[in-house]
Amino acid sequence: MADESTTSEEVCTFCGIPGCDRACSMQTFLIHGRYRTEKWDYNHHVVPPISSSTTYRLESFERGAYGFEHFGSEEETVHPIYIYDRLDEPVRGMLEENLAHAEKGEYAVSFATGMAAISAILGVLLKAGDELVTHRTLYGCTYSLLTRWLPRFGISVRFCDMCDPGSLGETISRRTRAVYFETPVNPTMDLVDIGGVREVVDRATGERPGEDPLEIVVDNTFATPFCQRPLTLGADVVVHSLTKNIGGFGTDMGGAVITPKRHLEALLLFRKDFGGVLSPKSAWPILVYGLPTLALRLKQQQDSANLIARFLARHPKVAHVSYPGLGDGRMQTIAKRQMSDYHGNFAPGMMLYFTLSGDPGESARRCKQIVNFLAGQAYAVTLAVSLGQVRTLIENPVAMTHSAISSEDRARCGLDGSGLRLSVGLEDPKDIIEDLNRALARI
Ligand SMILES: *Cc1c(COP(=O)(O)O)cnc(C)c1O
Repeated sequence: MADESTTSEEVCTFCGIPGCDRACSMQTFLIHGRYRTEKWDYNHHVVPPISSSTTYRLESFERGAYGFEHFGSEEETVHPIYIYDRLDEPVRGMLEENLAHAEKGEYAVSFATGMAAISAILGVLLKAGDELVTHRTLYGCTYSLLTRWLPRFGISVRFCDMCDPGSLGETISRRTRAVYFETPVNPTMDLVDIGGVREVVDRATGERPGEDPLEIVVDNTFATPFCQRPLTLGADVVVHSLTKNIGGFGTDMGGAVITPKRHLEALLLFRKDFGGVLSPKSAWPILVYGLPTLALRLKQQQDSANLIARFLARHPKVAHVSYPGLGDGRMQTIAKRQMSDYHGNFAPGMMLYFTLSGDPGESARRCKQIVNFLAGQAYAVTLAVSLGQVRTLIENPVAMTHSAISSEDRARCGLDGSGLRLSVGLEDPKDIIEDLNRALARI
């Protein structure tokens, strides 16, 4: 496991400046990216250009043939020959280099959406007859992908409580090829111990030498690489919805898989053939506005989330608040172990989940009242799905983002009818608290 606390003192090998001996911090890298790259001539633009060309002049028969023959290879990824947008494209390429670096991974492959990225890595890792083991609670569309579509391709999915390492160990079978989870979990903010999962998986793999390795895939959308780098904690692959806090402004959709070299070629071929590419016009704002401001936005959002979580936890009409910066012993221990910013400071993030007091019928009724009050009367808090942007967003997962989970399965997933998911934005936290306080006073 990498010692993250020393990272900011390490001399940069990423920027590409000849003879560079600076020790720049990630905050700086995310603004400047790679100074020397064959994907773009930094001598002329300060801001990367938006390229908008579906096809590329090939110069010669040999260059065209070489580009096709070597598509997907590591060599071709580092020194690209551009042929056609669906194969590779420079704006996306620059974003991918910076994303891989931000997650401390080897390569990133971008996709049109987070769901396209998740479909791609599962499509690459699993085939008919294989089994996927996952946590009982997942983002609604991921749950739908796993229960509605993967079984049609002969891939079975087994759910367990990954907060309990014993339950994971019992669920992994000889057919299991991948373990998939989110941490923090959307929407309940459960934390899965990434290092603990690595230990259970290593033990299971140790019992079947010679077989294909079991891959651990973590959806790091809620934490963002600013708050958590799963690859340094034992995960093999990370997926992201770039639509959320990496994009940060709520203007563009995108997704990414951060991968070791062993899956790079398959992911690029999958993207080429299934076609879920990220448009350069969407990659550009993520490259130019999203990533460069990630650290600054997260620090502010996290400070506000801390204040808001404490306000909610004290409120008599709130039954429970789930926020990694707050909470019971187990959650605190895991949060402190795996959620830290690039300087090693504790980084519990900007997402929180809370439930309302009262019996199930009463609390669900109160939830509806609060949501409707906020929709009509709040200014700093907006009723909307999605998360991780400059505006504070609130929603009720059971009725909205997680409605794909049947009412019978909700209890097993730990979903409460009165649950509210709050994504803290960049407004003055006083104004966010004021809106929540007024809404809570109405019920
Ligand atoms: C939103 C989200 C996704 C899906 O991302 P899209 O960009 O909307 O396709 C996947 N996982 C998590 C945790 C999410 O919040």
